[in-house]
Amino acid sequence: MLDTPRFTEITPTADIKGERHGKRAKCLQRLIRMELPVPHTVAIPFDAVRDIAGGKMIDLSTLISLFDGEPRLLSVRSSSETPDWGGPGAVLNIGMNDHAHAWLSNTLGDAVADKLYLRFIRSFAIEVMRLDEAPFEAATTPAAARAVFEEEMEEPFPQDIRDQLAAVLRAMARAWEGTSARLLRQAQGAPADAGLGLVVQRMAQGMGPGQSGSGVVQFVDPATGVPQVTGRYMGQAMGREALRAPDRALYLTRDARGPSLEELLPEVYAELLDVGARCRARLREEMQVEFTIDQGRLAVLDAVRCPREARAGVAIVTALARDGIIPRSEALLRIAPATLSRLLHRQIDIDAPRTVLARGVAASPGAASGRLVFDPAEAQAALSRDEACILVRRETSPDDVRGMHAADGVLTERGGTTSHAAVIARGLGLPCVTGATGLRVSGKDRTVTLADGRVLGEGDNITIDGSSGEVLDGLVPTQEPMLDDAFRDIMAWSDQARDIGVRANADTVADATLARGFGVDGIGLCRTEHMFFDPARLTVMREMIFAEGPSDRAAALERLLPMQRDDFTELFTLMSGLPVCIRLLDPPLHEFLPSEGQGISDLAAALDRPLSEVKTRIAAMQEYNPMLGMRGVRLGIAMPEIYEMQARAIFEATVAALGEGSVVTPEIMIPLVTARREVELVKRRIDAIAAAVREESGTEFDYRLGVMVETPRAALRAGEIAEMAHFLSFGTNDLTQMTYGLSRDDAGRFMSAYVNEGVYPEDPFGTLDVDGVGELLLLGAARGRAVRPDITVALCGEHGGSPESIAFCRLAGFDYVSCSPFRVPVAKLAAAHATILGSDAADSRRS
Ligand code: PEP
Ligand code: MG
Repeated sequence: MLDTPRFTEITPTADIKGERHGKRAKCLQRLIRMELPVPHTVAIPFDAVRDIAGGKMIDLSTLISLFDGEPRLLSVRSSSETPDWGGPGAVLNIGMNDHAHAWLSNTLGDAVADKLYLRFIRSFAIEVMRLDEAPFEAATTPAAARAVFEEEMEEPFPQDIRDQLAAVLRAMARAWEGTSARLLRQAQGAPADAGLGLVVQRMAQGMGPGQSGSGVVQFVDPATGVPQVTGRYMGQAMGREALRAPDRALYLTRDARGPSLEELLPEVYAELLDVGARCRARLREEMQVEFTIDQGRLAVLDAVRCPREARAGVAIVTALARDGIIPRSEALLRIAPATLSRLLHRQIDIDAPRTVLARGVAASPGAASGRLVFDPAEAQAALSRDEACILVRRETSPDDVRGMHAADGVLTERGGTTSHAAVIARGLGLPCVTGATGLRVSGKDRTVTLADGRVLGEGDNITIDGSSGEVLDGLVPTQEPMLDDAFRDIMAWSDQARDIGVRANADTVADATLARGFGVDGIGLCRTEHMFFDPARLTVMREMIFAEGPSDRAAALERLLPMQRDDFTELFTLMSGLPVCIRLLDPPLHEFLPSEGQGISDLAAALDRPLSEVKTRIAAMQEYNPMLGMRGVRLGIAMPEIYEMQARAIFEATVAALGEGSVVTPEIMIPLVTARREVELVKRRIDAIAAAVREESGTEFDYRLGVMVETPRAALRAGEIAEMAHFLSFGTNDLTQMTYGLSRDDAGRFMSAYVNEGVYPEDPFGTLDVDGVGELLLLGAARGRAVRPDITVALCGEHGGSPESIAFCRLAGFDYVSCSPFRVPVAKLAAAHATILGSDAADSRRS
């Protein structure tokens, strides 16, 4: 075995490391250890490949001397640390030259020799030397292809295997360093300095006399993960040719549609199944195996982690755990929490009317709607305005990747399931339709011309269905995805593993139903203001706002009371047995008033007041800094009747739901608290109302009062506030806003500049600022607990759905996080990850 710092022969005992030579190299070593028939292979580590990219070649003469036999033909494949990070495509048959051609002509015949030589010249020219493909299309013999090469390059086609191999290694090493390759792998979580390894392997020809050919096999369906032998085999073929020409290739398993390898070579087929089963058990993974058959003998060239869509990924790891191949905790850790959100792809509502504008290839699942944009910059601009958009291109190129990140979906005129747009969109979990027949896209005119001549332009809305390939007119309603057994297993195992609660922020019965379906631990935040935006209620709400004094206000509130009571009764019934935390009214009242002319006139008419009076009242309510003005508990202090009505509605709903057999202990949360006295005043009134409702109804019930910690002062004074509260729930949206003095609503204007300049590592509204806001969380929790050790501590801002924040909250000993219902599965899995990794770390500290 040769092992230089620059390359290592892969043998069962060689020092091959995934983090130095890449996953492919490591996997090949495992196959060799399993005594599978793997051709001789050498691994080049990351640092050597980096040097090659920088112009420092390795000792090729020594490397090549490790491969003996005639003809000496080699392949090179990339081997990154994580397969998802990609890498340049394989180059086969390095070493094809006049000598090898003559040798092959004598042994395998002219036809095979010509085919191999022609292929190699073309791939060397196009993939390695980056020559245009077009001139090679007409070259159908090795001599013609060589002539084209020599004309384009103005030099002879290299005959020395060392020159060929040097060019291949250099091209692959440099491709990895390219900007678009870097952006793509970073989107998959690769660090900026991720390395590439390369493996050089002796070619096992699938061409020659008798039964020779090559194929690819995997043992699950890549879309669903259901066990099923899929793949193709083709006689007299190399590499992945069988997959590229499915109409000429054989099925693997007996199939009514055509001949199969199982019928042609039953023993080799059985051997393949055995290889698959052994790989699964030993490599603890579902693998895709590339193989050749050389005169009836099987060779295993490569095995990679079977490519899979998000749904299949979840199905595969749950099956491995159910079969006892990996423990459940490992199954959970193998699924990135964000992947689950891809499982939750929206689908077009089956009942929605749809007008099909065009049909294309279903390239990446899920449905997306938005306005048409024609270039990546427009997509980024749309994102900064928070507008949904569909990026439309003739076909995409690496320059479009940034725009694809920003878009909600991608539609291309050309391409198929493996075109650039499709591959990238699947990687990003973005719905995508490619090859939309009948569409003509003009990037210059910014138009799409449909088959019937209709022209759509910038700003027109469309919907794409990446699961069916349809392009639909307008914004078509979508519906939530179906979730299968594997998903349910992951949720159940996450529930068993995690030691931090996950609740949902749910304001409506629809939200709560979704959350309950995801097996949430309760509702952590019900923002009651959303209940008032229904048109019928809004008018009453406005009457309340315009009331002349307490008695008028009380009359309007009297009408709102039964509406709120019904809302809460429904929520309590639906969530029976689980906690429901209701936040008292929070936003400034002017948010309920119209801001433009017609709306103000309508309001004047509805209230039967002079227009001028309504205008004056609205103007009088304007504030310079509404988010720091009359909102939250300040409303409760200045207009106590509002909170009193809400408290009464909550308690009456509790009595109603208890009467129907539900189990309810309502939680009431006071927003925007800054001082103990605020809580004291509100608590006294709420206690009085609870007592009154108990007395009136003759029903006993309990309730828990809590405080939203979302001002820095509340965090600092959490000790004295805790004396009044059963729970503290950190509202990190406002807390971030106030800690930074940065408007939640305006930060988007300069946030990208701030992040680009490295002022902030991330947008703190998206990723919890653990250094600053996090310190307030720790401090508030500690001060609250010091006074009241059994106080419940939680986080209910948007950060509640982000895996990093969940890990932080768990470490800080929080009882639960609360996030929007769709993020609940991600949050549960992230909570399980944090618990498993946290206890692993604790175990290793103990041992
Ligand atoms: C918060 O401020 O974090 C919060 C959850 O409340 P809202 O977003 O409604 O202000
Ligand atoms: Mg808030």
